[in-house]
Amino acid sequence: MHDLNVVIIGAGIGGLTAGIALQQAGFTVEIYDRVRELRPAGAGISLWSNGVKVMNSLGLGEQMAAIGGQMDQMQYRTKTGELLNDIDLLPLIETVGQRPYPVARRDLQAMLLKAFQGEVHLDHRCIAVEQDETQAIALFDNGHRATGDLVIAADGVRSILREYVLGKTVEPKYGGYVNWNGLVPASEDLAPKTSWVIYVGDHQRASLMPVAGDRFYFFFDVPLPKGTPAEPERYKSELATHFAGWAEPVQRLIEAFDPATVARPEIHDVGPIDAMVRGRVALLGDAAHATCPDLGQGGCQAMEDGWVLAQYLKTTNISVDYALQRYERDRKERTTAVVQKARQRAEMIHGKDPALTQKWYQQLAEESPQDVTDAIAKVILAGPMH
Ligand SMILES: Cc1cc2nc3c(=O)[nH]c(=O)nc-3n(C[C@H](O)[C@H](O)[C@H](O)COP(=O)(O)OP(=O)(O)OC[C@H]3O[C@@H](n4cnc5c(N)ncnc54)[C@H](O)[C@@H]3O)c2cc1C
Repeated sequence: MHDLNVVIIGAGIGGLTAGIALQQAGFTVEIYDRVRELRPAGAGISLWSNGVKVMNSLGLGEQMAAIGGQMDQMQYRTKTGELLNDIDLLPLIETVGQRPYPVARRDLQAMLLKAFQGEVHLDHRCIAVEQDETQAIALFDNGHRATGDLVIAADGVRSILREYVLGKTVEPKYGGYVNWNGLVPASEDLAPKTSWVIYVGDHQRASLMPVAGDRFYFFFDVPLPKGTPAEPERYKSELATHFAGWAEPVQRLIEAFDPATVARPEIHDVGPIDAMVRGRVALLGDAAHATCPDLGQGGCQAMEDGWVLAQYLKTTNISVDYALQRYERDRKERTTAVVQKARQRAEMIHGKDPALTQKWYQQLAEESPQDVTDAIAKVILAGPMH
């Protein structure tokens, strides 16, 4: 199809990727976001090769490489620092055809905003959507109405348009743990600068991975009841308690970070849901399939969504509804599998069944590095960027 006008709600990773892909397909795109200033939620993100390949296909390969960290190995360590498994990532890169890139979210957002031609309309909170046989209209709290051939709801895990598409409310489900994440200057006394290092124990994780600018993106995971108070001035003492007795680099990391710059989300997922599309309105990214970050795939799936949607709109001349149905059929299956796998992994890592978590620690020590990279490759290659 040609000459389509597309309205996108949400300028996160999903909305921006879709916006760029649709512009490159020759469509007119307007993006709206409720915030007054775009700031990424969270410090870093690890983009596996499927997400990076979407960026490559949008002509952003060199820029991705410039903001990405050099991650050649992955090391699992016990909480006291003994090496469980040292995994060379180069065979994985050979298998899937692209290096993964951990990046600072601010760098990724800046890259995507620069690649999107035109302004994102900020301070526009979408409150509803309407449609008839020829158009879809997004309504905003400031009275503005944006009309297009279709509306893409990329409005995140707490999407208000999800209810419109599904005809019912689906609340995000708590993943059972809290994640603290931030950036620190890279230093060899924290971790090797070309490795992703993950300390595991007590159903918790502490992790460091390199991003551009000689920095580490780090996170801590702790299973806690939902609603445990978040007070930045207590982050260091809380983490010092949760990680008491852990290896020296973990202690140094707790000393090194600046709590004012640390994000502390409670992890949630969404779905699997019954539908991603209603007529001319399509859910995309976390709005449809927020994913526990335990596979590092939520953002990559949002990127795949944007790319796939653009392909279907570009390659059919039957109708917008038809293209969106094809998108839904394709993406529902893929993202359902990823959400479920990530949920399973989140529960295994964070001690939902302590015996299973213990078995996982054992398995980490015994399994061959190739088994680990094969499992990662399977997830990557099950998608459209194989
Ligand atoms: C701790 C953590 C670690 C993660 N790590 C990884 C990882 O390593 N790899 C990976 O691939 N993924 C990871 N993810 C997942 C990834 O962050 C998300 O899947 C991704 O950011 C989703 O992008 P999105 O565009 O769908 O939603 P969002 O980024 O949430 O964007 C939604 C946008 O919509 C706007 N919006 C919301 N409501 C409205 C409204 N009513 N009107 C207008 N605008 C609105 C919001 O302001 C926001 O800008 C992680 C997630 C977490 C929480």
